[in-house]
Amino acid sequence: MYSEFDREVGEMRVEQERQARIDAARAELKRQGREQCECGATISPARRRVHPSATRCLECQEIAEKEAYLK
Ligand SMILES: [Zn+2]
Repeated sequence: MYSEFDREVGEMRVEQERQARIDAARAELKRQGREQCECGATISPARRRVHPSATRCLECQEIAEKEAYLK
């Protein structure tokens, strides 16, 4: 038999743990960046060392930067 207080504390814990897992997963994703570009090319390990959070290969990055510049 749970009291209202126990139930609320339990829900809070579940919510906190869920949020912590999401945050950890996001941080991990950001830290690692991606191995594969959206175009399907593999992002070189050298590039990923310089830009650990890179999500694009060099060519796509240049195109994206040019597009951003032209806007
Ligand atoms: Zn690419």
